[in-house]
Amino acid sequence: MNPYHGLWLKAQELMPGGVNSPVRAFKSVGLDPLIVSKAKGSKIYDVRGKAYLDLVMSWGPLILGHAHPEILKAVKEALEEGSSFGALSHREILLAEAICNALPSLEKIRFVSSGTEAAMTAIRLARAFTGRDKMIKFEGCYHGHSDFLLAKAGSGLATYSLAGSAGIPKEVLKSTLVLPFNDWVALEKTMNRFGREIACILVEPIPANMGLVFPEKDMLKTLRKMCTQKGILLIFDEVITGFRVGYGGAQELYHVQPDLTILGKIIGGGFPVGAVGGRKEIMDQLAPLGPVYQAGTLSGNPVAMAAGLKTLEILKRKGAYEKLEKLGATLAGGLEEILKKKKISFQLHRIGSMMTLFFNDRPIENYQDVLQCNTEKFNQFFREMFRKRIFLPPSAFETWFLSLSHSAQDIESFLKAADQTFKAY
Ligand SMILES: *Cc1c(COP(=O)(O)O)cnc(C)c1O
Repeated sequence: MNPYHGLWLKAQELMPGGVNSPVRAFKSVGLDPLIVSKAKGSKIYDVRGKAYLDLVMSWGPLILGHAHPEILKAVKEALEEGSSFGALSHREILLAEAICNALPSLEKIRFVSSGTEAAMTAIRLARAFTGRDKMIKFEGCYHGHSDFLLAKAGSGLATYSLAGSAGIPKEVLKSTLVLPFNDWVALEKTMNRFGREIACILVEPIPANMGLVFPEKDMLKTLRKMCTQKGILLIFDEVITGFRVGYGGAQELYHVQPDLTILGKIIGGGFPVGAVGGRKEIMDQLAPLGPVYQAGTLSGNPVAMAAGLKTLEILKRKGAYEKLEKLGATLAGGLEEILKKKKISFQLHRIGSMMTLFFNDRPIENYQDVLQCNTEKFNQFFREMFRKRIFLPPSAFETWFLSLSHSAQDIESFLKAADQTFKAY
């Protein structure tokens, strides 16, 4: 038996589906998955030593690329000083300051160990602060895997066509109202009927877990206005968009101030981190000041804080986001040209260094539109690109990421591979 396949079989004996996060199994694209040995810059290597050009970038955190030398140095320094303290440490204070300075809507912040935890805490805070139970989320938006938030979520659920997860009490989901994204009518109706019972509206300001989808003009501003009118907290899940679409996240881009913001991914520089932050009077509801309990053994982990701090420092340097934009524009521009030449129907959504290619001839505004896309075409495209050593997210419903370590040459190899792939169509 070929040793690579043998390793994959062993993984499947030992771990459900062979993986520790579902989409990694490559099940929807029908290939043996990538089994990684290491990664550096824009390249990721399988255990056979084959190099792939990486556009997954750990699903968003690695905006600097893999094993960035400055991150390694910062992490090594932190590690030498201890890997966990179970007490307040100086790097937490520094990262808290850096993030609150970057996002003016954050007066205070609490660090946790994942985006999932941050979303859980944000909702608990909103319910405690407003004294209301209901919440609104949007179809195709993903906010981690906690019970309340798994109704019609994106990410792996979209990939595997799951409406939600088994094992969640119906009672729990009753308080989660799920609306189509960009649907003004549904929004207004729900607001009129339940407005005064709703604790929070939770939204990815630029949804990136059903593929990349954009809010219609003034949608976020309207949400803000409605929330203020009805005493509802507006929560932006910027786990992906935070420090990705710009140093100030989507809230800076759209000029909308949420009451609470959920962060993760980039702020951990490739280490497990999440955070919730926002208005002081809401955040002060958290224990030990207030009645909302939340805690974590590894919260504010010094190694993760060091990686996050260095990441933010590098992103703040002149030209960082300009470079990311240029890389994204070159890749998207080239890809569009190829697709048009081949007369293939597509929608290419991009903002800065993240994008999704949808195989569809109609505009895409929400999850229902996304589901109309030709997933078989995507899977075929994925397989061909993977054979040409390009690692894209193994799902039609995910966002591709570029990093500061990607080069003009990387983009060229990507386009060459895409051109050859579509030639064969
Ligand atoms: C990844 C993600 C999460 C969950 O973060 P984890 O660290 O995987 O728990 C939440 N919200 C959004 C928008 C995400 O992309």
